[in-house]
Amino acid sequence: MAVLKDYEDIIGKRNIRQIEMLAKLSRNKKVVMVNSTRDGGGVAEILHRLVPLINELGINCRWEVISADKDFFSITKKIHNALQGEKIRFSGEELEIYRKVNEDNARNLNLDADIVVIHDPQPLPLIDFYKARRAKWVWRCHIDMSGPDLRLWKFLKNYLEEYDASIFSIEKFSKSLSHPQYLIAPSIDPLSDKNKVLDKDEIKAVSKMYNIKKDKPVILQVSRFDRFKDPIGVIKAFRLVRKEINCQLILAGGTASDDPEGEAVLEEVRKEAEGDPDIHILLLKPKSDIEINALQRIADVVLQKSLKEGFGLTVTEAMWKGKPVIGGEVGGITTQLHNHRTGFLVNSIEGAAYRIRYLLNRPLISKRIGEQAKKFVSENFLITRHLRDYLSLFYILENPGKNIIYTGENEINGGS
Ligand code: UDP
Repeated sequence: MAVLKDYEDIIGKRNIRQIEMLAKLSRNKKVVMVNSTRDGGGVAEILHRLVPLINELGINCRWEVISADKDFFSITKKIHNALQGEKIRFSGEELEIYRKVNEDNARNLNLDADIVVIHDPQPLPLIDFYKARRAKWVWRCHIDMSGPDLRLWKFLKNYLEEYDASIFSIEKFSKSLSHPQYLIAPSIDPLSDKNKVLDKDEIKAVSKMYNIKKDKPVILQVSRFDRFKDPIGVIKAFRLVRKEINCQLILAGGTASDDPEGEAVLEEVRKEAEGDPDIHILLLKPKSDIEINALQRIADVVLQKSLKEGFGLTVTEAMWKGKPVIGGEVGGITTQLHNHRTGFLVNSIEGAAYRIRYLLNRPLISKRIGEQAKKFVSENFLITRHLRDYLSLFYILENPGKNIIYTGENEINGGS
């Protein structure tokens, strides 16, 4: 696994030094990150890399995962969907299970730390069972909160108001809250198996494994099988494109242990594809990082046709590989794709089909957009920037009111 020094070639010595200086200010502090799954989805993806790097810098950072049964995850998936705007009614019993599972976890988890970072809504109520706390508690929201169901939001806000701060991925998700809110964009690790450079043989092996021939252009979407990722819309857009251009579609994704809807959505996708030999539906196992990396490199155009999206790491991953990406004009995708510069944003199946055709017919433009996309990611969405934001946040939480951090070498503007 890469250590901080390994990123020197990508971000330069000075930036590495600044991260080290910033970390010194929080040295020996204890931080604990809490989420609901160790595998599957963007949060786990980030924590797998961020936690070791924070530790390497002399801050004691642990990662705890709440344990729960299927009933709880069905409820929290509904909470996730409602926060992303679906109108869902919750029974008193469901909300009680949500609370009770958190109460049980509060008894079993070790959250002894100076700073507790709770990711997403599943473990949000934990705070209620730590009344006599000395740690700073932060809620890190990764989902698209642009238009939550207001009844549910009002309920969850009671928990959230107990926190010392919250973090959102983009400004549009911020809310009226009595504590400070910080903006931190997610990131990818350029040196992880998912994003590192692969050699030709490695890519070929993955093509062979999934029986993908590069005899016609490849359109790809990598996503959990989730309705908000609109896999059905992707198939429909592909069918419109194929009327004019002979091409193939890969829909690759797995399930996450905290997402019980995956199987049902996968079935819907298979039904829609009707056994079409040009639609490859790949059910990926957990930890298929090299496979995803290769598929993103094989693709000519990458889609992320989400209808709601907190950020969309799959967008960042493909951009980093120099691919032209077409994304739904929603949530965090809008901070990554800028029309004609770093990719394209679309609002419909027809719009997606139009942009796929546009890019497949213009290889030089596709190449240029891909190069600009890669540069944009390298300047904004790499794990080293994310690390720096977290280190700034740790310092600010412990030193409220400061918005300039003196590291002894440089000053760093705190907050975002
Ligand atoms: N991913 C994966 N296997 C899958 C599907 C997705 O490893 O079968 C990864 C994907 O490469 C990305 C993350 O999971 O790193 C998904 O993050 P994103 O922000 O795109 O969506 P989320 O699943 O968090 O809604």
